[in-house]
Amino acid sequence: MYKRSYGSSKAIRPETFRETALRTGRAVVVGHGIVGHQVVYELFSAGRRASRPIEILWVADRHDRRIASFGASGCHMPFLNRDPRAAEWARRSFQRWDMLYELGFGDLLGHAETVFLTREDRVELPPGHPGTARMAAPADFSPFYHRAAVLDSGSVVSACALMPRLFRAVSDLPGVTALPRHLSDIGDLLTMTVEFGAELACVAAGDRAQFLLGERRIEGDFGALLLIDLHKVPEPFDRMVLMDQDREHELTYSVPHRACGHVCLGGVSGRLVTEPEEYEELARGLDDPARVPRYVVDAIHEIRDRVLERLPVFGPALAAGDYLSWYGLRPAAERAIAEWVPWSRTGNLGVLHLGGLGGSGFTLTPAFVTDGMNIRRPTQGIETHFESHLGRPTPAHSS
Ligand SMILES: Cc1cc2nc3c(=O)[nH]c(=O)nc-3n(C[C@H](O)[C@H](O)[C@H](O)COP(=O)(O)OP(=O)(O)OC[C@H]3O[C@@H](n4cnc5c(N)ncnc54)[C@H](O)[C@@H]3O)c2cc1C
Repeated sequence: MYKRSYGSSKAIRPETFRETALRTGRAVVVGHGIVGHQVVYELFSAGRRASRPIEILWVADRHDRRIASFGASGCHMPFLNRDPRAAEWARRSFQRWDMLYELGFGDLLGHAETVFLTREDRVELPPGHPGTARMAAPADFSPFYHRAAVLDSGSVVSACALMPRLFRAVSDLPGVTALPRHLSDIGDLLTMTVEFGAELACVAAGDRAQFLLGERRIEGDFGALLLIDLHKVPEPFDRMVLMDQDREHELTYSVPHRACGHVCLGGVSGRLVTEPEEYEELARGLDDPARVPRYVVDAIHEIRDRVLERLPVFGPALAAGDYLSWYGLRPAAERAIAEWVPWSRTGNLGVLHLGGLGGSGFTLTPAFVTDGMNIRRPTQGIETHFESHLGRPTPAHSS
């Protein structure tokens, strides 16, 4: 694991991103989504703790509702996948999200019970859920279902209210320079890193890491939400999450954003976006509703029809013209990626890629980023036995 330097008996320990940034006092971070915010905040906090401030160049081409983090439903915990490592990141993230509390945004992270509903024989609960579940009468929530389970823990991040404020707060931290800029490829990133005088960059580019890094394991997974007026939703549906667990409809859900004043009704998934022209088409639709692609219009109608059928309590808020919609792309990958880009592509600079969080960015980010920034960069030309990708083994794997 350690490289022995020639002519010396001193072992050189490969550094983590955090250690190199503290030693050199500089780092580049790409991405103004939730992952990028967390990376910048962790670097700032590390510099403060060590009394060695880090200059951070924080670059992205967008920090508004054109990216996933600014429009996501932000449900925290219940949308887990079956990867035990993800379940462990979710559990740890749920226990603590220091960035939000320390920057004064704890009120945008609210406890919410989650109700799982199904017509199937049994309710599947998310693996790794730390709370307790009780069976409940499905008719209390909807006439459509045969079974219901209420999970006592879970929370909602009011993502659309949080992200613009969080962006301002993190941009204003001492040592942080937020720069709006599009990076065309990894060469562009390396040039900028050298010009800034840094030895390393962290890429948190969400779904578009597929273009910036040529990272073919990541794709954009299309998702859409309807936003209805919170005040038109009766209690207790204005403060709990409902989720349809039926196999083919498990993305029918309601998530209340109390701080934003709306309830998010979702969703769709499974349409993967990988071509630059498709991205341009989607971006045009966000700028001009008349140019929304046909499949987006269809997805929005489909969500509305499903909600009316399955969750009729939201019907009064779904009159034509009464609701808004939003769509975005989840950074879909088979598993989350926390990995140093190989030396062969980055030369003497270090590029750490953190991404591929799919539909769980708000659920996993705090613990995932902490672990990702603790991965040691493999020493050039030396075989290492530690894990240089997918993060450190979590307790779920190492125990
Ligand atoms: C409909 C929907 C519902 C969701 N609901 C939930 C939920 O309930 N719970 C949950 O946990 N998660 C949810 N998610 C998922 C969550 O939104 C994502 O996992 C998360 O936002 C990803 O964050 P990120 O920082 O990795 O990427 P992003 O938010 O996409 O940010 C990427 C950043 O990189 C920048 N960038 C990319 N390429 C370049 C380039 N070449 N040059 C410069 N900058 C670049 C972008 O401008 C942007 O600032 C949902 C997503 C969708 C679409």
